[in-house]
Amino acid sequence: MKSKILIINTGGTIGMVKTKKGYAPNGEYFRKALEDMGALKADIMPKWDMIETGQLLDSSNMTVEDWNEIGKLVADNYRKYDGFVILHGTDTMAYTASALSFMFENLDKPVILTGSQIPLCEVRSDGRDNIISSLLIAASKKIKEVAIYFGGNLLRGNRSMKYSADGLTAFVSPGYPLLAEAGISIRYNEAYLMKQGSEEDFAFVPFENVPIGVIKVFPGIQFSLFESIMTEDLKGIVIETFGSGNIPQNDEALLPIIEKAFANGTVVTVCTQCPQGTVSLGAYETSHALQEAGAVSGLDITTEAAVAKLYYLFSKGLSKEQIKKLMGISLRGEMGNL
Ligand code: ASP
Repeated sequence: MKSKILIINTGGTIGMVKTKKGYAPNGEYFRKALEDMGALKADIMPKWDMIETGQLLDSSNMTVEDWNEIGKLVADNYRKYDGFVILHGTDTMAYTASALSFMFENLDKPVILTGSQIPLCEVRSDGRDNIISSLLIAASKKIKEVAIYFGGNLLRGNRSMKYSADGLTAFVSPGYPLLAEAGISIRYNEAYLMKQGSEEDFAFVPFENVPIGVIKVFPGIQFSLFESIMTEDLKGIVIETFGSGNIPQNDEALLPIIEKAFANGTVVTVCTQCPQGTVSLGAYETSHALQEAGAVSGLDITTEAAVAKLYYLFSKGLSKEQIKKLMGISLRGEMGNL
């Protein structure tokens, strides 16, 4: 029997048309374009239906509420379909993929995000292959996780980052091998695919709009400027450090600020600015202070995934201690364990 896939259109370049003010989403045009695409009716293609989110967005406008809407559409249709293809703008696709990977517990079906750099209405659009291949991957029964398909590559969603603002291979996952490559055929990298999942235990955890911050460290950073955001309202903060978790030692202000954050109950997670490699707190004198102050090592987690994971853990209502512990452990293949 043919697989049944639900396409959820959330907006993004793929379904945009030219307007006087520049490209903007147009649901009606896009639905017609898909219905007219002969390839989507070919024998090898799965059956598909398409629904849209309430408002088609440029993904720069995505919010936690929008993630919840997408998550609910998948959850409400979970038993009716074999897989899901989510059409999404590229700008925040890696954030949404990370968010969905945590929102869905015990996922045992494919959730594939895709989009395009050039709208489908243009002759050179990359959207055509991205949709066709995503549907084939969603129908393949091999994937039990949230992934991004883009420009011939299938990537683990919570390991992905947008790499190119204009190239057609727009996403990379430097910390994790490709899940599949689409050449003449689609070759799955079986050893690296998520294995667990169970239909009965599948659960959807909507996120709360928890106040979270990100600080990127740079030479000359004046940490005292950030003191004002370290209030009891701030639940979690991700610090993007140099290399393996290093921060400048020459600004004495950092330690008191981190200590203040801890006293306030804020969870401090340390990531690296390097696309590849892992945080190793205490390896250098320059990361020692963070460790001493009780910061959690995010190992090789991306900032996108760290932000999404903080939303998830706080939305579960866990204690600060539990959240600190879980931030350092892989929950959905987002860190470590290669
Ligand atoms: N600004 C667009 C978006 O993220 C870019 C894209 O789709 O590629 O929605």
